[in-house]
Amino acid sequence: MRSGTAQKISNAILSCAAGFASFIFSLSALLYLTELDQKILASMVAGVFCLMISYMASERPNSESAKALAALGERLLAVEDGDLVSPAPAAVRKAMPKLATAVDTLFAEVRASIENAHALGMYDPVTSLPNRLHFRSEADKMLVDSEAGAMSAMLFVDLDRFKTVNDSLGHARGDQLLIMVANRLRVVVNAEFTGNSAARPLLARLAGDEFTMYLPAIESPDEVERVARRVVLAISEPFELCSHSVDIGASIGVAIAPDHGTTVESLMRAADIAMYCAKSRGGGQHCLFNAALAAEHQDNLDTERALSDAVQRGDFLLAFQPQMSLVTGAMVGAEALLRWNHPRDGLRLPGTFIPVAERTGIIAEIGDWVMGEVAALLGQWQRDGFAGRIAFNISPRQVERPDFFVKLRQTFGDAGIPLSMIELEFTETAAMEVSETILAEVASLRASGARISIDDFGTGYSNIARLQTMPIDRVKVDQSLIAGIETSEKSRVIVQAVIHLIKGVGCEVVAEAVETVSQADILRAMGCDTVQGFVYSPPMMEREFLSWTQRAEGRAKSVA
Ligand code: C2E
Ligand code: CA
Ligand code: CA
Repeated sequence: MRSGTAQKISNAILSCAAGFASFIFSLSALLYLTELDQKILASMVAGVFCLMISYMASERPNSESAKALAALGERLLAVEDGDLVSPAPAAVRKAMPKLATAVDTLFAEVRASIENAHALGMYDPVTSLPNRLHFRSEADKMLVDSEAGAMSAMLFVDLDRFKTVNDSLGHARGDQLLIMVANRLRVVVNAEFTGNSAARPLLARLAGDEFTMYLPAIESPDEVERVARRVVLAISEPFELCSHSVDIGASIGVAIAPDHGTTVESLMRAADIAMYCAKSRGGGQHCLFNAALAAEHQDNLDTERALSDAVQRGDFLLAFQPQMSLVTGAMVGAEALLRWNHPRDGLRLPGTFIPVAERTGIIAEIGDWVMGEVAALLGQWQRDGFAGRIAFNISPRQVERPDFFVKLRQTFGDAGIPLSMIELEFTETAAMEVSETILAEVASLRASGARISIDDFGTGYSNIARLQTMPIDRVKVDQSLIAGIETSEKSRVIVQAVIHLIKGVGCEVVAEAVETVSQADILRAMGCDTVQGFVYSPPMMEREFLSWTQRAEGRAKSVA
């Protein structure tokens, strides 16, 4: 009998010890605590468990207390699912009221500690991951403590398409998604590194949809790239968000110490640069930092600085490319194309600076300049008898600005230009991504006479269903589709289908980058309305364009 009781007590102690270990482990995983945090938490919980164990030893175990202990075990395991709130189970309260009070006090203290940690500004309140400050100081300590020449890695994880989800489903859902992402990242990290706690990676949320990982001890770059691929895979699985299946992705930049930096600062910068590379390749992948990326980044920084000077000085010009009707042979309008009059390099084409301008947001100021210039030139030309329509390109970053539409109306209104003389070109992807509010503004511009077109059609992501409800007049078929129509039957089939589709939703078809007479002939036979391209003219500077327009009709007829 005596030895039976001792056995039961020792079993109870053992199961409590196991429960304790699992509790600490779960809580650490849940909060992603650092070693120091774990020690503090462990000693706090250990105190309460000592109380429990001495309590059990002093009680005679009977079946009721065995049930209570089992219920207590389950309560502790619920921490794994994030439950730090439920009170001690009723069975425990009944059989061992002191123990129940001790458990409730324990959870209250843990919750208070977490809140305290948040209040101290160490954790991100949404995901409970360490925040930027906390991450930097921990990674810094790890780097300082590492052996000279030891390899470690910094991963910069940026979500793809998060903004779209946030904008369309709302911020509360966006936060939920961030929690789910954080949990998947925890799983990858926990699965990768189970052993030595000094080699345990750090995981943090930096800001918005940016996360970071620091892997303090790696054997080779291959090892980090494997982790990066796992993260990409984990995030590419759809997320179930309140009966919506949400697809996002992750772009990851990887930097390795000591080759790419020896401080947290320099490693984060290198990983950030590599992340942009992954993004620019379409996202959903990782990119390892290298010297060529560093040079490209420097180049972009130079362009960025020079661009803001150029905006101050207005070092830009517009070139104009005519758009010709395949039906009448007349010029129906022209597209204004931006040129940068660079002090050192001469005229620079948009491809060399628009991506930088888009990324930094300076495109909004450049776009304002374009708008002002088009309004001013149309004002002058109108006085000289020009009656054509001018199209210009709108960046998605411009329409995001709350005053964009007011400014546009004001600019053209002040110049005395009716909106029927302008056309706004939105790229296909931008057109599909804009919010309903912006679409309503676009519809109202259209109602005031402005033409709206979708640019680069066939290169972006298109929601065909949305095409029929969008306020558009024209669709510009991208040059990548046009390029093959002379030589490839498949290409002709595609362009023909695209033309049917566009006309089917009641829009005018404009073919871009038409270079030869035979391409123009094929397009006319397919029912294309308008063409723009070298076959008629390359983009021209103002004076050349104006004299070209005066001779345009005869020229168009001869090509047609
Ligand atoms: P886009 O809007 O698709 O403009 C047409 C581009 O095709 C122009 O390049 C034009 O020069 C080129 N092109 C015209 N005909 C032909 C042809 O027959 N063959 C070939 N191969 N190319 C032809 P550009 O001027 O270098 O402009 C490139 C892009 O830069 C534009 O593509 C547009 O997306 C952007 N861009 C230009 N101006 C602006 C602007 O003011 N604001 C914004 N946000 N983007 C602009
Ligand atoms: Ca365009
Ligand atoms: Ca285009």
